[in-house]
Amino acid sequence: RIRFERVSKSFGTLQVVKDLSLDIERGEFVSLLGPSGSGKTTLLMMAAGFENPTGGSICLDGRRIDHLPPHRREMGVVFQNYALFPHMSVADNIAFPLKMRGVGRSEIDDRVKRALDMVQLSAMSSRKPAQLSGGQQQRVALARALVFEPAVVLMDEPLGALDKQLREQMQLDIRALHKRLELTVVFVTHDQAEALTMSDRIAVFDHGNIEQIGSPRDIYDRPQTRVVAEFIGETN
Ligand code: ATP
Repeated sequence: RIRFERVSKSFGTLQVVKDLSLDIERGEFVSLLGPSGSGKTTLLMMAAGFENPTGGSICLDGRRIDHLPPHRREMGVVFQNYALFPHMSVADNIAFPLKMRGVGRSEIDDRVKRALDMVQLSAMSSRKPAQLSGGQQQRVALARALVFEPAVVLMDEPLGALDKQLREQMQLDIRALHKRLELTVVFVTHDQAEALTMSDRIAVFDHGNIEQIGSPRDIYDRPQTRVVAEFIGETN
């Protein structure tokens, strides 16, 4: 379980996360939903270790992790701009984080094979990113995040760059992967429909705090504040 306890983050005088507490259970799929600038990405970056909280604590299974460097947190991270290396094959892109950490050749081969399998891209391992569709490229990025077989995967608008049809397919794929691998997923999106269809729970953000947290049904049928009602009522 991931526990954010009274977490704050300021950039200079701007406080973007305000005394925020949130528990995410093992195996849960939680979306952070809210308007642009509400602090979703900043919270995710603090969990990943790319930003330091200015207050509060973050624990994983009871262990404090907010002082650990990103590679010691045992979490996979997927960004919207998935930044594959264009000159490397799919397999080499996925192998890259393993090589960086000095993993041996045979273990690299095993892990890359398993990761490709997870995202059903085994047939594409020697292609270059440019020879793949947007959805396939996103699956390579996903495989790269899964290559250490982390229990937790943090995703920041991973489908933002995809067209509608591909986006809907990837929503199903990610959801299936979450179930099959029993992953804990924290998923940042500003797309209401996406959060409602994919999540076990949704945390609705506004101005650096959580306005409401609950099941998609709760959030949709019983918004507790005007901000939530208005945000959920909007369509893209
Ligand atoms: P979006 O959906 O647009 O990504 P968000 O809810 O994820 O929005 P954040 O990216 O967390 O929001 O940003 C929250 C606020 O913090 C914004 O006002 C942003 O400009 C500010 N901010 C984020 N990173 C920095 C930084 N490195 N330095 C200064 N301000 C920052």
